[in-house]
Amino acid sequence: MKKTRIIIAGGGFGGVKCAQTLKRELGCDKAEIVLFNSENHLVFCPLLAEVVGSSINPLDVVVPLRQLLPGIFCRTEEVQNVDLSRNEVEFVADDGRASRMSYDQLVLACGNITNLNVVPGMADHAFALKTVGDAALLRSHVMMQMEKAEVCADPDRRKWYLHFIVVGGGFSGAEAAGEINDLIRSSGRYFQNFRCEDVSVTLIHSREQILPEITSDLREFARKKMEKAGVKMVLNARVAVATPEGVGLQGGQFIKGATIVCTVGSSTAPVVERLNFPKEKGRLLTEADMRLRGSSNVWAVGDCAMVINSLDGQPCPTTGQFAERQGRQCAQNIVRVLKAEATKPFFFKQLGELCSIGGHSAVADMLGLHLSGFLAWFIWRGVYLFKVPTWARRFQVGFDWAWLLLFPRDLAHIRTRPTDRVSHAYYQPGDFIIRQDDPATNFYVIEKGEVEVVRSTDKDPKGEVIAVLNSGSFFGERALLSNDPRVASVRARTAVEVLVIGKNVFTQISGALGPLRDALAQALNRRGIDVWKGEPQVHDLLSSIQLKDLMEPVPQPLLRPEASLRDVGHAFVENGNEFFYVSSDGQTLEGVLTITDLLRGRANGATDKTPAAELMSKNPVALAADDTCAVAAAAFREYRLKSLPVVEHKDSRKLAGCIKVRRLMAYVFKELSDGK
Ligand SMILES: Cc1cc2nc3c(=O)[nH]c(=O)nc-3n(C[C@H](O)[C@H](O)[C@H](O)COP(=O)(O)OP(=O)(O)OC[C@H]3O[C@@H](n4cnc5c(N)ncnc54)[C@H](O)[C@@H]3O)c2cc1C
Repeated sequence: MKKTRIIIAGGGFGGVKCAQTLKRELGCDKAEIVLFNSENHLVFCPLLAEVVGSSINPLDVVVPLRQLLPGIFCRTEEVQNVDLSRNEVEFVADDGRASRMSYDQLVLACGNITNLNVVPGMADHAFALKTVGDAALLRSHVMMQMEKAEVCADPDRRKWYLHFIVVGGGFSGAEAAGEINDLIRSSGRYFQNFRCEDVSVTLIHSREQILPEITSDLREFARKKMEKAGVKMVLNARVAVATPEGVGLQGGQFIKGATIVCTVGSSTAPVVERLNFPKEKGRLLTEADMRLRGSSNVWAVGDCAMVINSLDGQPCPTTGQFAERQGRQCAQNIVRVLKAEATKPFFFKQLGELCSIGGHSAVADMLGLHLSGFLAWFIWRGVYLFKVPTWARRFQVGFDWAWLLLFPRDLAHIRTRPTDRVSHAYYQPGDFIIRQDDPATNFYVIEKGEVEVVRSTDKDPKGEVIAVLNSGSFFGERALLSNDPRVASVRARTAVEVLVIGKNVFTQISGALGPLRDALAQALNRRGIDVWKGEPQVHDLLSSIQLKDLMEPVPQPLLRPEASLRDVGHAFVENGNEFFYVSSDGQTLEGVLTITDLLRGRANGATDKTPAAELMSKNPVALAADDTCAVAAAAFREYRLKSLPVVEHKDSRKLAGCIKVRRLMAYVFKELSDGK
């Protein structure tokens, strides 16, 4: 007789419990149970914060699925799609080819994924806490910050290294903040150059109180206890931006810190996203028995599902406790369907909530009892030790915890060479992207915004702005090619997005790609650090005068972005201009339009009605009225232009005038000959 094939997509809390229950109820003779999971292990998320705080080892929180689920066909493969009409799942097989497997019953237990993109810059500058890799990386980073603080001579920067910002005051945020705080403060005695006062851990939460899941007296206890242990609470605050320097809050406050841990922000697993089934907040809507609405043989459990608890008619929270119960009851319902019995709605009375808050303290809301402090912490450890899925891991976790009673937390920092990468990064105005004298590790391409190149000397430690670069330009090539330290700093002038290319990738591409090699050679030539070597007096002269002293009025008329190509053509004929600035309000610079743009637009199929906005160069490079004329000279060289727009300030696009090469040269000749 053909066995019923039950496929489970996802080997987390929900999927594993479902597989275990199915095996127990059906045995391996009646059903073929296949479990797909992206990794070969289950991650015991509730203990991830303990890994960060070096209380337990990273391997203690993962359990190999095939050791946990004997008799079940565990496939370390990701389900890409579900073909509901043919009852098949699609996945990429070991040979890289798309493959399919049919099912009689399918359980979706894919959980959700971290999505740090909810806040600009968070994905680039913050640590997530969802996988064991995240936890190990963060732990290693925390150790590195202590090592850096130890050797840092600047007291402010030392404090910055030792400031850890945790975003999100739910269970994982509170636990992570508590663990990091314990780790740093208990390790201070092994370091000579920083004291407890230099350490700060800040927990930022959007509501009035942290831990919204528990009762208000326990929340209050947790807050007070954590504050007493040294964790600073920033409540009723939302993070608006994350940068390498720290986080900016809505409302303008900026909190500086070298480490940002983000425990908020999740989104739907891609396979669930692709499924054409009704969802709410990205979670699959199910019937009371956990079958997908409108389906007879597809079920969903855990964080990817919106299951209603028939106990109270409310949607279940996304916790491990609920995922496990759903997995078990879903398996029981599948068995009922196979026996042609009626299914039962999901029903679960939560046992309670437990959260460890550091300092051998926890809060517990269990079986109607509200406990806090050491007793709650003891219960927390007991419950979670019991919940770790295998005896082998239970012993390991228990042993690590016992070890800590006698010995300090392990401060070993395993330094892995950072993988070369291509990534995106976001910087706020004033942030340093590169610092002078640092070793060269990356090459940067500006995707959005403007940066300034600043060079400092012993005489001028604050530094002089020597060039301004905007979107489409690149920087960082000189030090990479010469293998020398950076000769100048690069600082964001506006909000900036850059493409970051690691050293090895850069070397390979620039070695193989002729046009890039040529562009780099030209850049090295025109950006030569000694371009003024033969003319120091010209440089001194240009550096001593600001653009506002030499700029000319804004060239008129300004074009509006909606002006048609036909109107623009007329404007060129009537005014005899070589270019026009484009502005909607007659003040703010939005683009520049040249005759070349017009001709290129025509060649690309623009019609008489095509608006100027589609033809112009958007966000052109613009200098500020208080920039020096030396910066203008560098920009003329960089962009090979004869004229550049001048705006009121660095962070404004309000037109103040324009600067022309001709005027600059006339000034230099006049001054030098007068000087003679
Ligand atoms: C730091 C942290 C602390 C937490 N603390 C607690 C706590 O104290 N108590 C509590 O109850 N809950 C806690 N949770 C929440 C709990 O971990 C989740 O609710 C629970 O893991 C959800 O279980 P799940 O089976 O739905 O998904 P998960 O456990 O996330 O498992 C989903 C699995 O599916 C895999 N997968 C995804 N897509 C595919 C695909 N297409 N094909 C194959 N496999 C796929 C994933 O790789 C993953 O292994 C915590 C979570 C975090 C991140």
